[in-house]
Amino acid sequence: MEFPAELRDRLAAVRRLGVITGAGISAESGIPTYRGIGGVYADPARGDEIIDSLSGETLESDPDRTWRALAELAAHASGAEPNAGHLAIADMERRVPEFVLLTQNVDDLHLAAGSRNVIRVHGSIHDARCLGCAAITSMTREVLAALEAAPRCASCGGLLRPGAVLFGEMLPTDAVRRMEAEFSLHPPDAVLVVGTSALFSYIVGPVVDAAHEGRLTIEINPEETALSPVVEYHLKGRAGHYLPLIADALRR
Ligand code: NAD
Ligand code: ZN
Repeated sequence: MEFPAELRDRLAAVRRLGVITGAGISAESGIPTYRGIGGVYADPARGDEIIDSLSGETLESDPDRTWRALAELAAHASGAEPNAGHLAIADMERRVPEFVLLTQNVDDLHLAAGSRNVIRVHGSIHDARCLGCAAITSMTREVLAALEAAPRCASCGGLLRPGAVLFGEMLPTDAVRRMEAEFSLHPPDAVLVVGTSALFSYIVGPVVDAAHEGRLTIEINPEETALSPVVEYHLKGRAGHYLPLIADALRR
């Protein structure tokens, strides 16, 4: 797990850094990923079942089932705290003049670690929204994990929907607008992608664009992904190992 010396020099010159994360960065906090090493749904039948439960369609036909699946995910995440990788990313934001973080995670561990300019493209598991009056209800992981049916709004009694984007649903428009502004209109001079199986076009796109334009691209993942042949550096290992080394190489 070596760290290339010339990458160290390249990082020292970065002024605007874009970081993209997926479930892999939270694996070392004890939150299982969906796919890849240690993925909780490595079993294909179980995977199909959970994806079906966490779909926009199931939320409409059987909201209790969607909420029970979310409760199960929250139970898997009980006691999880930010790890060395989350903390290193928060440190990077303090070291470079301009910084943006795009995360697919719904666990809010980046915020807990102190990251500020964060685009949560898949929302947050901790915010629920009333389908009747649109009020937001914050839920702790413990409250979520204990749910046995769809919760109701305290002010109007309406059905609550999860604050996370479900499979088959559109992305939040404000997140899409921010992704465009931060990664296309004003592109980072280095893009670092960590712990994602990189299945979504809006995750792949900013990395491919940067690579094609000759900007610095780095992937951290113990496995090969569709992005591995595209990036300039694939650091094949754990986020918690490589991210502190990268933060350290950035100028202060
Ligand atoms: P994914 O589960 O599809 O892929 C995880 C990736 O992380 C794999 O490529 C794996 O090789 C890599 N990985 C595993 N351990 C790692 C480590 N220690 N360091 C670096 N990489 C590691 O995750 P995804 O691409 O984010 O897509 C899954 C979807 O499910 C996302 O939409 C996300 O919102 C959601 N999800 C979120 C969480 C969370 O919030 N923590 C957890 C599971 C799934
Ligand atoms: Zn309401």
